[in-house]
Amino acid sequence: GKNSYQLFSHEMHKTLMDRLKLEAELREAVTLGNQLVLYYQPQVNSVDGKIVGYEALLRWNHPTRGLLTPIDFIGIAESSGLIIPIGKWALLEACKKAKKIHATDVHFERMAVNLSALQFNHANILEHVTNALLETDLAPNILELEITESAIISNIEEAIPLLFKLKELGLKLAIDDFGTGYSSLSYLKNFPIDTLKIDKSFVDGIVNNQKDAAIARTIIQLALNLGLSTIAEGVEYIEQHELLKAMGCSNFQGYLFGKPLPQE
Ligand code: C2E
Ligand code: CA
Ligand code: CA
Ligand code: CA
Repeated sequence: GKNSYQLFSHEMHKTLMDRLKLEAELREAVTLGNQLVLYYQPQVNSVDGKIVGYEALLRWNHPTRGLLTPIDFIGIAESSGLIIPIGKWALLEACKKAKKIHATDVHFERMAVNLSALQFNHANILEHVTNALLETDLAPNILELEITESAIISNIEEAIPLLFKLKELGLKLAIDDFGTGYSSLSYLKNFPIDTLKIDKSFVDGIVNNQKDAAIARTIIQLALNLGLSTIAEGVEYIEQHELLKAMGCSNFQGYLFGKPLPQE
């Protein structure tokens, strides 16, 4: 009826206004440059459980809403195109941090940085990565770029040469959330990939769900057979860790070892 239509319209209007407001605020955050921060989550190895690297994860210190995680703003960052300058900044920031850690005597193998599909496909990503490495003088093999299967598959003709050019810089490439996207086993044969990240959705069910366990075991075997390393994400319980370790998984990331934390 007429009344409920008006109510719905009002709600839609409000949602749209909220979105536009958040987009304007994000634009300002990009300009101001001090509200966006990176948190770092440790990655440990399977040999002695030592920290071998970190994944850089984006956070937004919003002036009124407090600390926001990507789920609150990544969608708007993508649709507005702001993910391009944000991603460029995150790359440089993570490389700066990695350079600092690498300069200490702490054993440190990797700083992992997420690339969005938009960044991977539309921006001058090769130039951004090259600049970040040059500007920070970071050893390229410390940097690992995390790319999703869908980002690659959505534009495969350009993705393949781009992956090879990125590899030529000396960095590492990981497939993020492996097994959840448009998986195609043939690309593993043709792409210069170093690491498969086993998605949290499989890790979640690994102890109680035989199918999740079978998928995780198969991904790890596949990686071993292809000479790739594996990282399981979202490991929260000792039982999950033990199982993944027994399956041959080489690295772990999750609340069991450490939550994402500010650099301090
Ligand atoms: P992702 O790449 O799959 O990152 C892993 C997410 O799982 C992170 O969420 C991390 O905080 C969370 N996590 C790690 N271990 C555990 C655990 O044991 N339990 C639980 N419940 N969660 C865990 P976060 O930081 O909220 O990031 C969400 C997504 O946002 C990321 O998923 C990634 O796709 C995207 N993202 C984060 N930072 C960036 C960035 O700099 N650029 C781009 N393009 N995307 C980013
Ligand atoms: Ca990731
Ligand atoms: Ca992931
Ligand atoms: Ca994930």
